[in-house]
Amino acid sequence: MAENMLISDGTLIDGTGASPKPNDAIFLQNGRIAGIGSRSDMESQGLISDDANPVEIDASGKTIMPGLIDSHLHCSFDDVQSNDELFFHRDPTMVALVTAQNLKKILRAGVTSFVDPDTAHGIGPAIRDAVNANVIQGPRIKTGVQALLTAVGGTAGRLIPDEGTVGYAQVVNSTDEVTKWTRRHIKYGADWIKIHATGSIPGKSGELLVWNREEIRAACQTAHELGIPVMAHCRGAESVRVCAEEGVDLILHASFMDEEGLTAVIENGSSLCPTFTFLANLADFGAKVGASPGMEDIFRGEIEQTAKMVRKAYDNGVRILSGSESGFALTPYGHWHARELQVFVEVLGLTPVEAITTATKNGAWTMQMEDDLGTIETGKLADLLIIDGDPSSDISILNDKNRITSVISRGEQVALDDPWPTHDPIPGWKVGSWAAEILTWEKAYE
Ligand SMILES: [Zn+2]
Repeated sequence: MAENMLISDGTLIDGTGASPKPNDAIFLQNGRIAGIGSRSDMESQGLISDDANPVEIDASGKTIMPGLIDSHLHCSFDDVQSNDELFFHRDPTMVALVTAQNLKKILRAGVTSFVDPDTAHGIGPAIRDAVNANVIQGPRIKTGVQALLTAVGGTAGRLIPDEGTVGYAQVVNSTDEVTKWTRRHIKYGADWIKIHATGSIPGKSGELLVWNREEIRAACQTAHELGIPVMAHCRGAESVRVCAEEGVDLILHASFMDEEGLTAVIENGSSLCPTFTFLANLADFGAKVGASPGMEDIFRGEIEQTAKMVRKAYDNGVRILSGSESGFALTPYGHWHARELQVFVEVLGLTPVEAITTATKNGAWTMQMEDDLGTIETGKLADLLIIDGDPSSDISILNDKNRITSVISRGEQVALDDPWPTHDPIPGWKVGSWAAEILTWEKAYE
């Protein structure tokens, strides 16, 4: 049950893009923000009465801001290390149980809402509904079922079957199949349809557009007719342009977007979720976890080239979203959800307050809850953070869980003192690799 809560003092970053300002009081009631401003005014108006008996939180010297909205993460992947593991070694029941544990990590990192495009075994709607029904604890969730892939196989290539379903993938081979599966996913509870517009083909560099126009259009038309938006994984200039032209609502990655792509994005009104964090972690820290060596410069180059165009999009009024791609070994749950904001400051040149807006006000759009979420305004849902420090002068502190002193989700305080949730090894869950390197005679003896 949501408590009555009174947060006194502190500096307010309201998530609208407005400058931080000192605040006297915020009153939370029935899971919503009932009042903001002067405590004595709220008392004289009878809003705060003796029988309201609110839990009081002193935020003096701290920052109050909306809960973070992560517009791109994968809650069912369990910090996966390989595609093989993800597609072939995960029992569906265990996936759901482990996901329930991982939701707690996401919430404790200050993410009070997230959008998950595609889920292993299509468990997303069940997970969302279990949270909404209070079966398990977690952030507010909007979710896809599985990603639609053509038989080219997206980023998992030949691991993806020529037809059928595996892991988070549903293979579609014609416009008829696109239409059929879009409808089925909506029937099974999808809030978003996700298509994997680009994929890798062995022997060809980069990711290529692996959907034709008619297929992309079929996904958009079918979903839109049923009131559901479409997002597309686009790691290539052509894919950004064609997806925007055919009506995709949200472009993920937008890697190497060119001028024509930018024009299409502006004209169609598409939004962008660059999801730089995965690349930034690989570039900066990949060597620490034994990621493919020598790739640092490639990823840094992709970020820099894409960032120039994303900045142009921002200047043209395109909505930019913060997404962390959490759920992989390089982006474990609870650790990197706010790094995207830091990257936006560093490579897009956004101010910290502008960057915060991508994970608050803008994120409410991805959640399809713009009237209820994303900003601290009277009447909105009571999802708030209290930060020890000032993220408007140092955005990186949002990644430091020790600086998040309160996470308020649905008007309730999340327990932050419990031990961090972890699980022991699960039989068959991880795929061992024989060696990270080749043991040549020279390596052994020289
Ligand atoms: Zn993703």
